[in-house]
Amino acid sequence: MNLAHIGEGPQPDCWEHSDEFSDYEMADMPDRETAELLCSRCPLLQVCAANARHRKPAWGVFGGVAYVNGRQAHLLAEDDPRLQEAA
Ligand code: SF4
Repeated sequence: MNLAHIGEGPQPDCWEHSDEFSDYEMADMPDRETAELLCSRCPLLQVCAANARHRKPAWGVFGGVAYVNGRQAHLLAEDDPRLQEAA
């Protein structure tokens, strides 16, 4: 994603706190509410969420959703007991 057009405006929190968005273990994955909260003030929320749905990231929070292997973690949780606490 090319973010050069953002300029001097508000910056996404993931730029300063990338650890909260992707540097965690499966057991510490942000739950659905936490993932939404992490991105809730982001000026790029809508475009980031759309990009993530298209790009299907392997890992991390994008657009207020935690992803695992290209799928939304809260949707996977029904099938994977390792993710049930994070849903
Ligand atoms: S919506 Fe995307 S760009 Fe914005 S804080 Fe979340 S992950 Fe970062």
